[in-house]
Amino acid sequence: MKARPDVTFMDPNYPADWGIHTGVDLNHPDGGDSDLGQPIHAITDGRVEAVLKNIGPSWGNIVVLWHPGPGVWTRYAHLEKVLVQRCQVVSAGQVIGTVGKGFGNRWQAHLHLDVLKKRPERWDDWPGQDRARLLEHYLDPWAFLQKQAQAGRINKPQYWIGRYANIA
Ligand SMILES: [Zn+2]
Repeated sequence: MKARPDVTFMDPNYPADWGIHTGVDLNHPDGGDSDLGQPIHAITDGRVEAVLKNIGPSWGNIVVLWHPGPGVWTRYAHLEKVLVQRCQVVSAGQVIGTVGKGFGNRWQAHLHLDVLKKRPERWDDWPGQDRARLLEHYLDPWAFLQKQAQAGRINKPQYWIGRYANIA
């Protein structure tokens, strides 16, 4: 079994009134809250660009990392615990937080992961239905990360979330 996103970049099945989905939602295949509290690993070397806590109506806790190698930011959302601070240097695979359920425990536990090529005005950015703004700032994370992993430039997907280590 391979790690895979249950909700993808610009997922056509994502409810239209929630906007266009900017990233991928990673769940453990056991479903439900089986990945609650599992460690989240930095995809590669970087520095903590931002930490946002308890952001409504759905984000909860967010960590943003800047990766000078590939020249992108990664945004990890709905965290239960945040284990890094702003400006901290992190290395590939370092645990930066744990999988949570978002603001007010709104969701089943999962990691929402974005890859950004351009800095947005705010780190809780959500372009809604603004497709042009989304494409200006965001990359298809699954395509980008798979390609980078195959080239050996970042961790393989099984290391992005703790329990994926067991199922790759
Ligand atoms: Zn999501």
